[in-house]
Amino acid sequence: MRRLRPFVIVLLVTLTVPAFAASDRQPAPAGAPVNAPPQYTAFTSQDLIRGFMALAFGADLRVGMKPKGIRRFDRAVTVFIDSTGSVDRRTAMRSIVEEYGRSIPHLAVSLIANEDDADIIVHLIDEKDFESALVRAFGVKTARAFVARTDPQCMTSVRSRSDGVIVTSTSFIIADKGDRVFLDCAYHELLHAFGLSNHDQHNPWTMLNQHRSVGYLDVYDRALLTLLYDPRLAPGMSRGAVRKRLPGLIASLGLARGP
Ligand SMILES: [Zn+2]
Repeated sequence: MRRLRPFVIVLLVTLTVPAFAASDRQPAPAGAPVNAPPQYTAFTSQDLIRGFMALAFGADLRVGMKPKGIRRFDRAVTVFIDSTGSVDRRTAMRSIVEEYGRSIPHLAVSLIANEDDADIIVHLIDEKDFESALVRAFGVKTARAFVARTDPQCMTSVRSRSDGVIVTSTSFIIADKGDRVFLDCAYHELLHAFGLSNHDQHNPWTMLNQHRSVGYLDVYDRALLTLLYDPRLAPGMSRGAVRKRLPGLIASLGLARGP
């Protein structure tokens, strides 16, 4: 889920970045929105552990049983893109999906034309249709509870089994409010759809900090998703088990520059 609060960005980044060890700041890559923030490209193991523990567990709103551990797909993931928005962004959305597939080892992603067989369904919609789309997808009660609680701009619902395996994810992405809103939502919501379900408003590097508008697949979130899909972690794994395994995993994948 994305909310844009552009005036908070500078203040938050200014206050929090010096307290941590991330380094090697690089400009946003080509294709990122105008004014997209730069990214740090070198992180310590602690930087990555902190983000993973905050983002791979929990969610804004839970319906049904409490999930036991991390959630992810246990199979090659198929994605269906549905566009009813007045601006057709299917081509851009397809290339973002493919970028995730290319960038994350052990995450196989392909696009399919049949919604019924899709693991992830992406709805590209106009902003005016956002609330009614949520009501259609989740019923009045859940949709209203979610909107009242989080004032969302885009959103993703992740349905998982009790063992942590994701059954389906459904994302709603606003297509008619310019490139920046679209790119920010598209990258952010896919990260949720693959299993990083939570937010962390105090983490200065992740796009899952709702005070940041990013709009590209940054080095930090790519590292977190790489960890989530590593075969040495399993769906449903508990906080304790994950916490114990992360330092060795991060070291063996070469994701960190220091402890
Ligand atoms: Zn979100």
